Amino acid sequence: MQLLDGKLLSENIKAELAAEVDQIKLKGGKIPHLAAVLIGDNPASQVYVNSKIKSCEQIGFTSTMVRRSGDVSEEEVLEIVANLNNDPDVDGFIVQLPLPKHIDEEKIMLAIDYRKDVDGFHPVNFGRMAQGMPAFLPATPFGILEMLRRYNIETSGKHCVVLGRSNIVGTPISILLSRKGYPGDCTVTLTHSRTQDLPAEVRRADIVVAAIGIPQFVKGDWVKEGAVVIDVGINRIPDASRKSGSRLVGDVDFDSVAPRCSHITPVPGGVGLMTVTALLMNTLKACRKEIY
Ligand code: NDP
Repeated sequence: MQLLDGKLLSENIKAELAAEVDQIKLKGGKIPHLAAVLIGDNPASQVYVNSKIKSCEQIGFTSTMVRRSGDVSEEEVLEIVANLNNDPDVDGFIVQLPLPKHIDEEKIMLAIDYRKDVDGFHPVNFGRMAQGMPAFLPATPFGILEMLRRYNIETSGKHCVVLGRSNIVGTPISILLSRKGYPGDCTVTLTHSRTQDLPAEVRRADIVVAAIGIPQFVKGDWVKEGAVVIDVGINRIPDASRKSGSRLVGDVDFDSVAPRCSHITPVPGGVGLMTVTALLMNTLKACRKEIY
C-alpha cells in the first residue's frame, strides 16, 4: 500500500508556483492576486481561509481577505462581490461557504464573474467542464486529478465508484473521471443516499472516491484488493487521548481499508491540502488569462 501524500505533493506544486512567481517578477509581470471573502465566525471556515491566505504568502502571490460579521446584509455581500469583479488587480476570488442562513448562496455564486471564479463553482465553469471546454475546475476535483496524475495512477478503463453527488465534489469528479483522456476514461458509478447496497457497488471499484461527510463510513470489507482509495471527507470526531479532545478523520475507515489498497489518501494530509493548492493553480491560470 502506498500513501498518496497530499502534503508532499502540495509542497512540490507550491515550490513550482513560487518559481513561476520569481519568473514573473524578473520579467516585471503581474503578480497573481487571490482574494477571499469570509463572513461570520465559523471556525472551520476561518481555518480554511487562513490556510489559503497563508499559502499565497508562502509562494509570493498577493492575497486579500475581506471579512464581515455574520449579520452582514446580502446586499453588502453582493456589493463586495461586485467590487472584486471590477477590481483589475484581483485575478480570482472565493466566497467561503457556508454563508449565514439569511444570505442566498446561489445568488452570491451567480454574482461572481465566472472569469474570476477560481473555486470553479459558477455554472458557466461547471457547464464548460462538463463539455470538456477550458474552464476553472472545482478546486477539490482538480486537486484529485492532479494527485492521480502526479502519482501516475492508471485510470483508463478503470471502474470508479464515487460516493456522494454534491456540486462541489461528487458530481464534478464523476464527470471529470469519465471524460476522454488522462486522468479520465473511467467507467463511473455515482452513488448517493438512495443507492441500494452501497457496499456491493464499492466492491466493484478499481478507484473509490468517498465524499459523503460521514466519519469512517467505508469499511475494509467493502473495498476490492488493490483498489485506489481517495478519501475526500473531513470530519471531526471526539478523541479523549488528544489534547484538543478531538481529531480529524475521513469518510473511509483508514485502519481497515488501507491494508487492502494499492494507494490511499490519508486524512489529514491528503485531498484537503491538494484543494488549497488547486485553488492557487487556478489563480495563476486566471492571472495568465489561460482560460478566458
Ligand atoms: P454534501 O453534504 O454536499 O453531500 C453529501 C453527499 O453524500 C450527498 O450526495 C448524499 O446523498 C451522500 N450521502 C449521505 N449519506 C449517505 C449514505 N449513507 N450513503 C451514501 N451516500 C450518502 O457533501 P460535500 O461533497 O460537500 O462533502 C463531503 C465530505 O467531503 C465532507 O466530509 C466535507 O467536509 C468534505 N470536503 C472536503 C474537501 C476537501 O478539500 N478535502 C472539500 C469539500 C468537502 P444525497 O445527495 O442523496 O443526499
